[in-house]
Amino acid sequence: MRTDCFCRWCHKSIRYEGSFREMFQIDDVLCDHCRNQMNIRQGTYKKDELRFEGMYVYEGMVRDMILQYKENYDEALFSVFLYPYARQLRRKYRKYTIVPVPSSVERIRERGFRHVDMMFSLLDLPIAGLIVKTDNIEQKYSYHREQIGSYFKLADKQIDSRTPVLLVDDIVTTGASMSACYALLRQKYDFIRCFSVSFSTKFVKKSLLFTN
Ligand SMILES: [Zn+2]
Repeated sequence: MRTDCFCRWCHKSIRYEGSFREMFQIDDVLCDHCRNQMNIRQGTYKKDELRFEGMYVYEGMVRDMILQYKENYDEALFSVFLYPYARQLRRKYRKYTIVPVPSSVERIRERGFRHVDMMFSLLDLPIAGLIVKTDNIEQKYSYHREQIGSYFKLADKQIDSRTPVLLVDDIVTTGASMSACYALLRQKYDFIRCFSVSFSTKFVKKSLLFTN
């Protein structure tokens, strides 16, 4: 049976029958051309006390895709970032509950979907909104960066403190949001790891601890 499907980004047909893809059982939602343009640098990075696993450098194609997904509300792109790695990540974090760095209620309402939750839904692990963001601020204004921690707080509903939690986000730019959320979770949880789909270029060289 011939199976055709379409690349979620360029909308060109991805053909499976008798192809290289079929032979090697490559299953993807992007065509090879688009996939190869995503700058993947899976590794563990650090910023002061924060350690996080990151996948992509936030530039070029990855930046375009994330902006299209979250700022132009192109919900169908939710799977393109983690699809080829979902099985590997599910195995690695199988005991963890995923905790997204939240957007504010206003942004979620505007967007109509929880963009980080949807990206990580592919891992098929429990997702818990243990943190809430109390105000809609943009990190691009530098004077807000020092204050960003004060915009997050623990949600009323929490889970067993022995549950390992995986704090996740779509982008680590300065690390301020993730650090603030990590500090909050530390008050309650014993085992916390951090993961970001992408990270700014400044992490690439000087902050890499090891490649995964
Ligand atoms: Zn494509």
